[in-house]
Amino acid sequence: MEEAAAGAKAIIAWGSCASNGCIQAANPNPTGAKPISKVINGKPIINVPGCPPIGEIMAGTIVHLLTFDRIPQLDGLGRPKAFYSRRVHDTCYRRPNYDAGLFVVTFDDENAKRGYCLYKMGCRGPVTYNAYGVTCWNNGVSYPIQSGHGCIGCSEANFWDNGPFYQHLASFPGFGIETTADKIGVAVGAVTVA
Ligand code: SF4
Repeated sequence: MEEAAAGAKAIIAWGSCASNGCIQAANPNPTGAKPISKVINGKPIINVPGCPPIGEIMAGTIVHLLTFDRIPQLDGLGRPKAFYSRRVHDTCYRRPNYDAGLFVVTFDDENAKRGYCLYKMGCRGPVTYNAYGVTCWNNGVSYPIQSGHGCIGCSEANFWDNGPFYQHLASFPGFGIETTADKIGVAVGAVTVA
């Protein structure tokens, strides 16, 4: 990998495996899996996480490099801000249901059929930064929430360890129906910094 990187202007870590280690780096990480940023030194590294990552985001990152001859603005996790600066929750079409306190409680209940918010099914959209609520996957066909499943937060570092998936989050500390995503983001950010 170091030999291949030697002449590179910058390195794009494509997908969650390359960006943050993904599932094989999850605790207890028996193989010692690690992201590219922990293998290569001295080169700009652009993380484009997602499991799977989204083609349009990769294309946009490469086009930026070729057009402007410099790496795009990155966030604290090395992700292009153009695609990772907003929470999934901020662009989710189910957000009005969240704000109104209308939630799916089991995957087969009437509220699931109505398309209510998946927060209580473990949706991690409020703490996940990704443009997929806008771009979707497969040429704009769909994305997990549109298919009736909550976001699992795959573009966040250590997402596999951070879970919980499929768990009822009603008692998540500091949350309430009237709590906004901004407050959630600030609270989670403070915990992360700590
Ligand atoms: S919690 Fe999930 S399903 Fe509900 S509005 Fe936020 S992103 Fe959408």
